[in-house]
Amino acid sequence: FENELTLLTHQQNGNEDEFHEAYEAAVESVKADLGAYHGLRIDGSHVDAADRFEVTSPGDFDLEIGEFAAGGESEVDAAVSAASAAFPEWEHRDIEARTEVFRTAADRMRDRKFELAATLSLENGKNRTEAMADVDEAIDFLRFYSRELERSDGYRFDTGQPTPHQHTTNLLRPYGVFAVVAPFNFPLAILAGMTTGAMVTGNTVVAKPASATPLIAHKFADVLADAGLPDGVFNLVTGGGRELGQPLTEHEDVAGVAFTGSREVGLGIERTFREQGKRGPVIAELGGKNPVIVSDEADLDDAVNGVAMGAFSFSGQKCSATSRVYVYEDVFDEFTERLVEATEQLGIGRGEHLDTVVNPVIDDGALDRYRRITERARTDGTVRTGGSVVDDDLPEGRYVEPTVVTDIPHEHDLAREEHFLPFVTVHPVSGLQEGIAKSNDSEYGLCAGIFSEDDEEVERWFDGVESGMCYANRTQSATTGALVQAQPFGGWKFSGTTGKFAGGYWYLQQFMREQSRTRVE
Ligand code: GLU
Repeated sequence: FENELTLLTHQQNGNEDEFHEAYEAAVESVKADLGAYHGLRIDGSHVDAADRFEVTSPGDFDLEIGEFAAGGESEVDAAVSAASAAFPEWEHRDIEARTEVFRTAADRMRDRKFELAATLSLENGKNRTEAMADVDEAIDFLRFYSRELERSDGYRFDTGQPTPHQHTTNLLRPYGVFAVVAPFNFPLAILAGMTTGAMVTGNTVVAKPASATPLIAHKFADVLADAGLPDGVFNLVTGGGRELGQPLTEHEDVAGVAFTGSREVGLGIERTFREQGKRGPVIAELGGKNPVIVSDEADLDDAVNGVAMGAFSFSGQKCSATSRVYVYEDVFDEFTERLVEATEQLGIGRGEHLDTVVNPVIDDGALDRYRRITERARTDGTVRTGGSVVDDDLPEGRYVEPTVVTDIPHEHDLAREEHFLPFVTVHPVSGLQEGIAKSNDSEYGLCAGIFSEDDEEVERWFDGVESGMCYANRTQSATTGALVQAQPFGGWKFSGTTGKFAGGYWYLQQFMREQSRTRVE
């Protein structure tokens, strides 16, 4: 399986300038089309709702992304009944007829790659490198899941003859309608991954994007329609969490849920789903509080770069973001000083600008959270760099400084709770044992990192750390940036509900239930 990796390919071929030109041209042309009204997408039609909401760019309040229908219970009913009606036909389509749709959609996305990436930069503030990676990952999910379904022959095989006159086939079958609730941070990749997982296996879908990122979801709906997906298989509803998300996940005809987002919301969905007496799957990817150990055997250049990128790329708004760092005492001062210096070099600005690493944060809630935690960091610890909202130079968006904090006890909320912001705490530890114990002392277990040139130390860490994703010496980013198939992505403990990983070999089976068919001959 070959991952898309657009920017890397341009860099390797020595035509990085071409990449930037194409991206910048795409930003201009996407901008020219912004501001339109978008209804809901139900049964292949654009449908209006009584209310509307507006989305503006987090990096430029004057840039209106568009106006979107704000659906509620009656729109959810209509979408779920369209998905229910489309299910019997879709379930019984040949595997190849289903996968062909997603392979075609992947090709369409490849053709529209720069436009989709530019849309992401404008809508959620992602910088160009990360925006391109989001699109590449979406394409990878479509292709990888198609390949997996074909490779496993649609999860169908003969178990043989239990007795001479009987014959049994064992297979996996879809459940019916899935509610898919997607986050703002990977609004294309994660939306595409979860919905494709559900649909390629024969389920139908009602998807709700985050209310900050509906435009890219509409573009995904366009791609699927262009690729020949039958009406009703993918329905898109936009609106608020309470007004729309809740009635959707609680709808009596919804057989399963796929969700990526906060632990609180995800576990709430799972609890209600079970209270309703439903037996289908709630496939949830939840938060993280991802620890990194820096050993005195580390290459400190690698560690500094890995931690800075892990903590601050996309402004820390990833469940995989590096958020606490445990550094061996003898290198603690040197590492921290160098991390502070590196952090101060990072460009803050609009996603679409060339030098941006730290982009605007998504909404006013994030800005308030940033103010609150940096205030607490000042009282309860030492803010080594950052800690302020940037209002002077960049008044037109929600810009904040990447923040490094020390002198916070490991038990402190700031070092235990997920903030989803460019904020990292650095703690001294006596060695590997303490580093692992503190890394593991968390309700989360999503991503973890270590920097050490000592192979044996790394091996002991792999065996001891409680984490779904473990990365040693990853200089481009200590904890973020999993590749589909090569690095299946998911978490232990409260970082997920099923223990199966996106972009991995056991992902699709979660959307299906087993049936044994025995025929007496
Ligand atoms: N798959 C992404 C990564 O490896 C993270 C997804 C997320 O943070 O929600 O960085």
